[in-house]
Amino acid sequence: MSSADRIALVTGASRGIGRAIALELARDGVHVVALARTQGALEELDDEIRALGAEATLVPCDVADFDALDRLGAAIFQRWGKLDVFVGNAGVLGPLSPLAHVDVKDWNRVMAVNVTANWRLIRSLDPLLRASGAGRVVFVTSSAAYKAQPYWGTYAASKAALEAMARTYAAETRDTGVTVMIANPGRMRTRMRAQAMPGENPATVPAPEDFAKKCLPLLKPEWRESGRLYDFPNDRLMDFHQPA
Ligand code: NAP
Repeated sequence: MSSADRIALVTGASRGIGRAIALELARDGVHVVALARTQGALEELDDEIRALGAEATLVPCDVADFDALDRLGAAIFQRWGKLDVFVGNAGVLGPLSPLAHVDVKDWNRVMAVNVTANWRLIRSLDPLLRASGAGRVVFVTSSAAYKAQPYWGTYAASKAALEAMARTYAAETRDTGVTVMIANPGRMRTRMRAQAMPGENPATVPAPEDFAKKCLPLLKPEWRESGRLYDFPNDRLMDFHQPA
């Protein structure tokens, strides 16, 4: 199967890591279905993808609009009958504050975007990924999932839940053509990082494009590992997070 026949959904494709992965896939000739809320940024991505000689389909949508995720699965089925790649990348940091002070609304929003949306996408896309014959899934996680740092509890709990869900889905698809990986970028020069570490000099932080290049092999039909973690800071495949 050549890349030209492959269809990829990337969530959070409007900027940062998701945008870099979308461009890397397009450079490989894959048709990218790019999802995020910011239409203008998606249109700029579309221009860049066309300039690479590839094609994209834009999905301006909030991943917390769960009915829209069901409709997206139906639309992909109607147009292509399958999905080859799903990158669950869209995420929010949420509040950095003691757990006892976290606002209920903020907690629920982080869980909706970082966890429930990815579950709803698994639910909506599973038949399409199986139909691919070589469905490749990557969820973007964080070492916050195991570090248990003070004030990072909401985000950490969401990424730990995402990892548990991804490993379970990997186990459930073990005897199919689908592989499911989690990928930890480490610190990346994006808006989310600037929000978390406002005093940091961005020039000292690795670029999302470098991570995206390393993710591409995980999204190819030749990839065979499933249920494992790719850790970019150590450039290693691991079973679980380990301190660097
Ligand atoms: P970012 O620059 O803030 O980008 C986040 C992306 O997610 C944007 O495209 C945003 O698009 C999209 N998004 C957020 N909420 C959404 C929603 N409700 N519906 C649809 N799309 C939504 O952050 P990033 O650093 O690239 O983060 C990408 C992933 O990497 C996240 O899962 C994050 O947890 C993870 N990560 C980042 C770092 C880091 O240092 N940067 C480290 C570890 C893990 P719109 O705003 O246009 O909707």
